Amino acid sequence: MLDPVPLKPKDLDRYRKAVGDEPVERIRELAARLEGARILHVNATAYGGGVAELLATLVPLMQGVGLDAHWEVMFGNDDFYNVTKAMHNALQGMEVAWTPQMEKIYLDRNIENVGSLDTDYDFVILHDPQPAAMLHILEYETQRLPSGKWIWRCHIDTSTPFRPVAEFLFPNIEPYDAAVFTMTEFVPGEWGLPPVRLIQPCIDPLSLKNVPLNEETQTAILESYGIDPLRPILCQVSRFDPWKDPVGVIDAYRIVKDEIPEVQLILAGSMATDDPEGMHYLHRTEKHAGGDPDVFILTNAQQVGAIEVNAFQDAADVVIQKSLREGFGLTVSEGLWKGTPLVGGDCGGIRLQIPDGVGGYLVDSVEGCADACLRLLQDRDLAARLGAAGKEHVRTNFVMTTLLENWLRLFIDLADGAV
Ligand code: UDP
Repeated sequence: MLDPVPLKPKDLDRYRKAVGDEPVERIRELAARLEGARILHVNATAYGGGVAELLATLVPLMQGVGLDAHWEVMFGNDDFYNVTKAMHNALQGMEVAWTPQMEKIYLDRNIENVGSLDTDYDFVILHDPQPAAMLHILEYETQRLPSGKWIWRCHIDTSTPFRPVAEFLFPNIEPYDAAVFTMTEFVPGEWGLPPVRLIQPCIDPLSLKNVPLNEETQTAILESYGIDPLRPILCQVSRFDPWKDPVGVIDAYRIVKDEIPEVQLILAGSMATDDPEGMHYLHRTEKHAGGDPDVFILTNAQQVGAIEVNAFQDAADVVIQKSLREGFGLTVSEGLWKGTPLVGGDCGGIRLQIPDGVGGYLVDSVEGCADACLRLLQDRDLAARLGAAGKEHVRTNFVMTTLLENWLRLFIDLADGAV
């Protein structure tokens, strides 16, 4: 069964202060051309991870500008999430044990979800691989494609997918009217995809995660976890996942600690319902930290929610996102938005957010990560300069109004047959 996520419309005018009047006026004009359009977003989880983060603001904003927008979460179970996590890893290039049984589990769940899918929409956006086969199944069952325009939104790096999984998944994408990727590099060349559009994720400057916090609140939050606000802080906010390399972050922190013994490390990661590997990697990370009292490994089990993440990213001297593969990495823009300099893995969407040294450093090793952190901790002026430039880069490119505008443009182009 698909589960509707209850949402309230958000008022676009509230974003004027963050982005100025022009984008708001442009969006109003675009939205007027789509007034009342019925839009459905489908993904695999309402909580945890970047896609849920995006939809929680994008869909209410679509409602706020007059669209009849909805968000529904597909039904899964442990078997399905194990398969889709393997699929996710494979699409990002990992060799996995892929079996016909796994294909059956994936297709059975998609078929089951199609049973409760209302297709009476003008635009349907299916996010990531989990629900991707639904359109193909609908076509197969009814011998015709549903009316409305269907879009597959791929949030991950599929530039070098593991072949057996790609051969299984990508034929399911062919019937879509468009496929949206974050970067050209992610578009897998040889699989006859529908027309491609590039759209980057964005952060919501008005969400609890990104609004300015006063110092008192920030200090109270840090102290409630035993973190000393007066000592240097490195912080990575990420799911516990091999691609996010929390173990590598601890190794980098140890190198930094040899030079700056008072440094602390926060590793905050919520457990997403569709990520069965999370617990395993959390335990692995805890073991690697070896009980170091200056390493704070925190999850939603310790009530780390939006406001806590906000306080950590703001209070940190350096935000790290040491990913080995990354679709986008919203945490990078979140950190920069607080004026905190970034040290990010040199991959995927992180490159878009820290281009040419704006906002911080791209690194591709534990040593590189440690060096970059040390440089920023030892030169506060440099850190402040990079942080300030990074914030402006985010304001110009990665604030939610840009995302809304890009989606409205795609809808209009699809409706006009211009895609
Ligand atoms: N996040 C969170 N709490 C945590 C860990 C992550 O709220 O403990 C949020 C994080 O702030 C970001 C999103 O989850 O908004 C992760 O998105 P990102 O694009 O960085 O990575 P993904 O998980 O989608 O690969």
